Amino acid sequence: MPPKESDGVEPKPPMKTQHEVSAAERVLLVGIGWKRAPRFPGMPAGELGRESLAELVELAESAGAEVAGTIFQLRDAADPATLVGRGKLEEIRAEANARQVPLIIFDSELSPVQQRNIEEVTERRVIDRTQLILDIFARHARSREGQLQVELAQLNYLLPRLTGHGAQMSRLGGKSGGGGAGGAGGGAGRIGVRGPGEKKLETDRRRIRERVRRIQESIEDVRRQRALRREARNAVPLGTVALVGYTNAGKSTLFNALSRAEVLVSSRMFATLDPTVRALRLPSNRRILVSDTVGFIRGLPKGLIAAFRATLEEVQEAAVLLEVSDISNAYHDELEQEVEKILGELAVTERPRLRVFNKVDKLSPQMREGLRAAWSRRAPGEEPPVFVSALTGEGLDELLRRVDEVLPVDPLVRLCLHVPLSEGRSLALIHALGRVMHSRVNDSHMDLEAEVPEAMAKRLKLEEFKVKGTSPSSSAYL
Ligand code: GDP
Ligand code: MG
Repeated sequence: MPPKESDGVEPKPPMKTQHEVSAAERVLLVGIGWKRAPRFPGMPAGELGRESLAELVELAESAGAEVAGTIFQLRDAADPATLVGRGKLEEIRAEANARQVPLIIFDSELSPVQQRNIEEVTERRVIDRTQLILDIFARHARSREGQLQVELAQLNYLLPRLTGHGAQMSRLGGKSGGGGAGGAGGGAGRIGVRGPGEKKLETDRRRIRERVRRIQESIEDVRRQRALRREARNAVPLGTVALVGYTNAGKSTLFNALSRAEVLVSSRMFATLDPTVRALRLPSNRRILVSDTVGFIRGLPKGLIAAFRATLEEVQEAAVLLEVSDISNAYHDELEQEVEKILGELAVTERPRLRVFNKVDKLSPQMREGLRAAWSRRAPGEEPPVFVSALTGEGLDELLRRVDEVLPVDPLVRLCLHVPLSEGRSLALIHALGRVMHSRVNDSHMDLEAEVPEAMAKRLKLEEFKVKGTSPSSSAYL
């Protein structure tokens, strides 16, 4: 673990603790298709809007919401005051009443004025896609930079929305109290009020700008320190396999299916530290960590790109990338190109990668054969994709075999260690990726003898914890 930098700007603790959504918040989703929007050849008008709304459903669910209904409208142009027309707004309000939802999420970006006007008419809390995505990023941000970047994006989003908003929100909070999560105050577990909460809205802009400035400075500091460490990190990536790809490709389902296949004792130990990382064993008996990442999202608003990248830090650390795509999605080629672009921006295209075509259970046997045949005609030397179904488990053994092939060899070294218990992450990693022969807890330390991958020993600087003047009880090396 690198020493914790302290510069006085810590990410706000509520961003970590408010994520446990106790009762799912019921939401109504509103999507809009534009008649003249650019589209792929052959795509019907409004199709992109409909797909985007379907994706919004996934996003809302991954933010812990219960989707009570969706409304879609095809429009010529946006109404500058309320985005949709007056009649549609009345329909939305009626729907929200009938379904008793305290929160409406618009798929399109809302200007501060539109958001306020729609709230007034519908008498509900209203947020847009950006705010929902920020909420999801806040859940996934684990690194310090990730948390700072998300808070920065949240503050920048809120700044133009400050005037009069706080007073209005508390009025709405009182009115929509019947929905369970609609009570005023608190904010814990409510979507779109994470991070800088309603209290912040009432404080003056100057203080928020001051915090924005200080966060920017600390991000710069974190960056500088990271640049210094980057070289060492790239030289010895940990045995981590990161699942990347679009939202809805099936990453989380695959993550669960893979880690169900074999749950190590140490896996549970690790899970207590990090729910999106699990340990598993490859056919060669090597142990790896698999990490589920925040999904890529179509049309990510500009202001969120830095926050998105920062939450993808584990991708930059991964030894192997699994690019998961939903092969049953008619537009998966376009989506894969987008993923490729983002991986290029993250400078990880040289990393060993495997393409994982998921959801083959949704294809007809003929389509499957067609795909396989098409791939066998591709350039020799190009890694063929692995066809899997995370849902039925088909192809998962093959996937693990292929990971074994592309994962760089990392010899094991045997060490006697005296590690402070405060080094929880290092201890968990030793248990997850290494083989522990003996361990004993002495006061504030754990004494252990273990075989660990050499690169990991370097990365975690285990040298510092080596017991001096002793040698491992057996000199067997693997
Ligand atoms: P993520 O956004 O990439 O993490 O995607 P999820 O794992 O949340 O999956 C998105 C949706 O696809 C869920 O409804 C899954 O049940 C479904 N899904 C995932 N894998 C498969 C699969 O192999 N076959 C089918 N038919 N559905 C799948
Ligand atoms: Mg997921």
